[in-house]
Amino acid sequence: MTDQPIPSIKLKPILVSACLLGLPTRYDGKTKRSQAVIDYLQRENLVPIPVCPEQLAGMTTPRDKTFFVCGDGYDVLADNGQVISAQVISEKGRPMNAVFCKGAKLVLQIARLSDCRHALFKERSPSCGVHEIYQEDERVPGVGVTTALLINAGLDVISEEDL
Ligand code: SF4
Repeated sequence: MTDQPIPSIKLKPILVSACLLGLPTRYDGKTKRSQAVIDYLQRENLVPIPVCPEQLAGMTTPRDKTFFVCGDGYDVLADNGQVISAQVISEKGRPMNAVFCKGAKLVLQIARLSDCRHALFKERSPSCGVHEIYQEDERVPGVGVTTALLINAGLDVISEEDL
């Protein structure tokens, strides 16, 4: 009997918002598990790398809800500290730009360490939003802070609503 070569399956890594995979990482301690996301990962032979930028930045779970007051993730990254063109705050009014930038940088570091060029993120989160975010209670076009940093670094980012 001859040894048959083991068929090689090409598996590609992809960063995935941890809450979409069923991890209870949301500000309210809940998940946003998406069967469509899990089916997509299996169908496309993708290896998910779960990330939660807000937990990576050291925020607790549960934690205060956060949202943009003005601007979006790109503006937060571009903010030079002199003119505030973007602001993420917690529901108690605490400024969160620095914390969100910290989480974004750690996610980018994970992407580089795992040679990952793609991300599948949760829509409308102030960290992970891809097409829309919340400014106060209003849904507006824009990206989250981590999404902005990954796109600036050349990664492809899609949301669960693109599937
Ligand atoms: S920061 Fe991203 S991964 Fe973490 S709970 Fe919010 S949407 Fe999910």
